[in-house]
Amino acid sequence: MNLGLQKRVAIVAASSQGIGRATAHAFAAEGCRIAMCARGANTLQQAADEIRQKHGTEVYAEPFDVTDHAAVQSFVEATVSKFGSADICVTNAGGPPAKGFLATSSEDWQKAIDLNLLSTVYFAHAVIPHMQKKRWGRIVTITSITTKQPVADLVLSNAVRAGVVGLVKSLANEFGKDNILVNNIGPGFTATARLIELAASRSTALNKKQSEIFEGWAADAPLKRLGQPEEVADAIVWLASDRASYITGQTLLVDGGMYKGL
Ligand code: NAD
Repeated sequence: MNLGLQKRVAIVAASSQGIGRATAHAFAAEGCRIAMCARGANTLQQAADEIRQKHGTEVYAEPFDVTDHAAVQSFVEATVSKFGSADICVTNAGGPPAKGFLATSSEDWQKAIDLNLLSTVYFAHAVIPHMQKKRWGRIVTITSITTKQPVADLVLSNAVRAGVVGLVKSLANEFGKDNILVNNIGPGFTATARLIELAASRSTALNKKQSEIFEGWAADAPLKRLGQPEEVADAIVWLASDRASYITGQTLLVDGGMYKGL
């Protein structure tokens, strides 16, 4: 299948590891030029070098925190001056801590809103005017299965990520006329550092071994295993491609069937 992504410019936020890094690799494999960011300069540079070596594509990498509005804006402007456009933008960040509701503080809520909702707003604000000029654009937000089915002890994610889905649908409605398609990807339990962090906190809370926590998550999905970051990345690349040109405002779960609804 020709995805039609050759020479497109793909911004992938929070991409030094995990799903973001796998997504940057997957776009590079399709011949895209890549703009990537994360907070830690060293791991980001390593990830960028790996992509350059493996795929022979141009990569622009800049370390910053996606909750910094000015930094997001200047990264997008630098990407456009380097590569000429910002065709695809995948928004991503770390996840909020696992907590029950009464254990959360107002600071936790503010941080989760900054990290998972406002960072998405900042990227969308920065890229949409460039996409409008080209009359072509794809925004894919990375959220979670929590946008469809709340997960125990992830009240911050369950509540705040729903706002991202509202944003996605609103942007899809407003900018469809400019041929800008906006969709959301909701990963289920995917084997990354984030999942190890969640397993550690759940193992303490439930007094169970981490291996039992992982086994429980795998057993809950009809496919009876955890997802791999590359499987989430492939779905993102397809959604951004010319092969998904009549799909906008949707949430696609990549969860091995874990979501229990219809
Ligand atoms: P990960 O911890 O492996 O990677 C997170 C990436 O985000 C890293 O590159 C990190 O450096 C970067 N990052 C974190 N905070 C940042 C910030 N403030 N500014 C810039 N970069 C930042 O996580 P992952 O598993 O790849 O998860 C990606 C997203 O998907 C997260 O929001 C996570 O909560 C969500 N998610 C993950 C799973 C899962 O099972 N792994 C399931 C559902 C949702």
